[in-house]
Amino acid sequence: MSQSPSPLVPGKTAIVAKGLVKRFKTGRTYIEVLKSVDFDALHGDVTMVMGPSGSGKSTLVACLSGLLRPDGGRVKAMDQDLWSLPSGRIDKFRLDNCGFIFQGFNLFPALTALQQVTTVLKYQGYDVAEARRMAMVSLDEVGLGHRVNQRPSELSGGEKQRVAIARALAKQPRLLFADEPTSALDGENGQIVTRLLQRAAKEHGAAVICVTHDHRMESFADRVIHIEDGRILDDRRVTSQPAPAAADRPLIGA
Ligand code: ADP
Ligand code: MG
Repeated sequence: MSQSPSPLVPGKTAIVAKGLVKRFKTGRTYIEVLKSVDFDALHGDVTMVMGPSGSGKSTLVACLSGLLRPDGGRVKAMDQDLWSLPSGRIDKFRLDNCGFIFQGFNLFPALTALQQVTTVLKYQGYDVAEARRMAMVSLDEVGLGHRVNQRPSELSGGEKQRVAIARALAKQPRLLFADEPTSALDGENGQIVTRLLQRAAKEHGAAVICVTHDHRMESFADRVIHIEDGRILDDRRVTSQPAPAAADRPLIGA
C-alpha cells in the first residue's frame, strides 16, 4: 500500500471545535473540566496550548483527537464531524490523520528504534519493505539514522522523544498532537524536539497542536492559547500567516 496524501494548504483550517464540554465523575459529583471551549487550528501552524496543571489541556487534546468523547459540543476535523462517526470510523480517522507525541515517550520497551516505527506503519497497512523504507527516512529526519537498532533502554531521553516523533511523522499526519513533549527533557533536547515539531508544520503543512507549560517553547509558536480552569482566557497569533509549505518537498518520505 502506498499513501499519497493530498497537499496540505497552510492557513487552511484543519480542526475546529465548538462548545466543548467534558465532565468527570469524582465520587458522587461531576467536575466540569472543559467549560464550553471553542478552538481551531490551521495547517502550517504550531498552536501551543498553555495553562497550569489541571486546567484541562490533556482533556482538550483527547477530545480533539478522537480519544475521549466530549459530553457536549462538536469537533470538525479534516472536514469530518468527528464525534458523530461510529467508533470504528473514529479509530480510522485517528489512524489516517493523527500523530501523537507524549511526555513519557510511550515507546515499546522491547523494540528497536526502527521497529517502533515499522510496527505502526505495518499496522496501518504498509508492507514490510515499504514500512522499513519509510521508517529509515523518518529516523534519518530526526537525526537518528545511526541509532536505528537501539532499544529505549539504550537511548537518552532526547533520543527517545525523537524516536516517538519519527514514529508520529512517518505517515505524514495531517494533525500532530503533542502533550508536554519537552517536559522530561533538558533545554537542548527540548529545543531539538520543538524544532522538529516546527518543521512538521512548516515543511509538511501539518497542524501541530502542542500542549505545554514549558515557556521555552513559546517562541516557536505561531499561536498561543491560554487555558485556565477549563476556559480559554487568551488566544493570540504571534506570527503572521503560516509560511507556505514547500509542497514539492515533503518533510518525511516521498
Ligand atoms: P492538564 O493536562 O491541564 O494538566 P487534565 O486535562 O489532565 O489537565 O485534567 C484536568 C482535570 O480533570 C484535572 O482536575 C484532572 O484531575 C481531571 N481529570 C482528568 N482525567 C480524569 C479522569 N479520567 N477522571 C477524573 N478526573 C479526571
Ligand atoms: Mg496534561
